[in-house]
Amino acid sequence: MTAKNMPETVLVTGAGIAGLFTALALFPTGRDILLLERDGPPPEGDVDVVFADWKRRGVGHLRHSHAFLARLRAALEAHPALMDDLHAAGVREITFADMLPPNLKAAYVEEPGDHALGVLTSRRTTLELVMRRFVERQANVRIQSDVFVDGLILEPATEGPPRVVGVTGREAGSDVEHEREWRADVVVDAAGRSTQLFDWLAEAGVSVAEAEEDAGILYYTRHYRLRPGVSEPSREGAPPATGDLGFIKYGLFNADAGWFSITLAVPEIEAELRAAIVGPDTFQQVCQLLPGIARWTDPAISEPMTKVFGMGDLRSRWRSLLAEGQPLVLGLFAIGDGLVRTNPLYGRGTSFAAVEAEALRAALEGSDDPARRLARYQVKIDSDLRPFYEDMLRQDRSAIRRAANARNPDHKPGLRARLFNSFARDGVGVALRTDIATLRAALRGFHMLDAPTDWLKKPRHMGPVLASWAKGKRRNAAHYPPNLGPGRAEMFSEIGLAEAI
Ligand SMILES: Cc1cc2nc3c(=O)[nH]c(=O)nc-3n(C[C@H](O)[C@H](O)[C@H](O)COP(=O)(O)OP(=O)(O)OC[C@H]3O[C@@H](n4cnc5c(N)ncnc54)[C@H](O)[C@@H]3O)c2cc1C
Repeated sequence: MTAKNMPETVLVTGAGIAGLFTALALFPTGRDILLLERDGPPPEGDVDVVFADWKRRGVGHLRHSHAFLARLRAALEAHPALMDDLHAAGVREITFADMLPPNLKAAYVEEPGDHALGVLTSRRTTLELVMRRFVERQANVRIQSDVFVDGLILEPATEGPPRVVGVTGREAGSDVEHEREWRADVVVDAAGRSTQLFDWLAEAGVSVAEAEEDAGILYYTRHYRLRPGVSEPSREGAPPATGDLGFIKYGLFNADAGWFSITLAVPEIEAELRAAIVGPDTFQQVCQLLPGIARWTDPAISEPMTKVFGMGDLRSRWRSLLAEGQPLVLGLFAIGDGLVRTNPLYGRGTSFAAVEAEALRAALEGSDDPARRLARYQVKIDSDLRPFYEDMLRQDRSAIRRAANARNPDHKPGLRARLFNSFARDGVGVALRTDIATLRAALRGFHMLDAPTDWLKKPRHMGPVLASWAKGKRRNAAHYPPNLGPGRAEMFSEIGLAEAI
């Protein structure tokens, strides 16, 4: 409550994933929440109509594959009625038991924490639609569509940082656009990867430091639907449906209503492959050359439902509205991709938004003082998300190096690289396929339930890793994954590309 005993008002720019998580985290606190969204509302109709027809100029990646981690499910599970809505809309759950290879499944005994490792699978449009309808049903949440926010209303301070008290924007009327102001006690920017917030702050003399790195890949996604009456191919003993061949990474994303999607991620330096793969025939050819994918994209099993969507400009970026522990601006929070952007390969972006929304709620509930609130918010983000961000940067830098090496047939890895590869493949990889406790702990890190690599520092898990490594390839022979796909030369030749270096 504010001093006047009225509910605090919260204005959110953007009703994408982070805006919706903000509403979800804050509505139980009784605050009055208004989301301003540039795009129109979803069309009437079922999830397939929404997937086909929802126009989202504000979200270029709406129709790219989205994996939702266990951490995201944990945030949604705080709202049982929303979980019911998601299930009713066809969103599916994959449990920890479903993820186990056959040798571990046979002896599996459920442990109390295993439920938390389950994940939800659906098209992004389905998740977003259901979340949106759920928050819109709450009495203290409103979404105003077709409003393009184009500036901040700032109150300059004689001392200390300026305070944001609202935003300006244009409402798209039927025939005319009106410039308007919206004011609130708290302003939240959830305008996504291309937010203009930081330009507006710079114009007002508030300069926010940011660190940015290229993810080094481009994304190519195509959606498929199982043919009527055909069941999903079994995963038991099958080649993995995700893989990294150095010159290409691939993943299959289960979705809802018989849909699934395939994403092929191509390193930036593979210019010829990038140009070719956007063609639907080449995309299909590549899929048929990847054993874990070919079983799904076989024309007898499924049919392609969309063109190949391509997306570049993938970079990681970290921003903070605190500088040396001091707030740069008051009354304003940034959330979602506008604050922290991650490489989509890790499937963490939506979970980051969920964690940030929970941090925002804790910050607003914990203090009335705007400076303290911002500090609390940012400290929580630093402690909970920074380790995942750093871990991702390390992996991305290594993947960029490997992609460059893959183009050089004369490249011979040095001793250090050979040792690391052997440790990862013969130690970590085998332990994950043979020791369920190690797999459980690693998945908790992957799914953001625990810090990303803490499990590897524990003797309980390092033991099996070292034991597997010591056994060597011959004695581990039964525990390697089947062939993940052809080498670069073979793939290029099959799809008719010259193997340019
Ligand atoms: C190719 C790709 C694949 C991805 N895959 C995954 C994945 O598998 N798993 C995962 O967890 N994450 C994934 N992500 C990341 C995830 O999509 C983002 O982290 C998430 O969308 C962030 O939510 P957001 O609300 O910040 O941005 P968005 O969801 O993009 O929403 C921003 C909203 O703000 C609105 N808006 C923008 N400007 C204005 C304005 N001026 N006025 C009013 N409204 C405005 C937009 O219309 C939009 O609705 C992927 C990202 C990309 C690019």
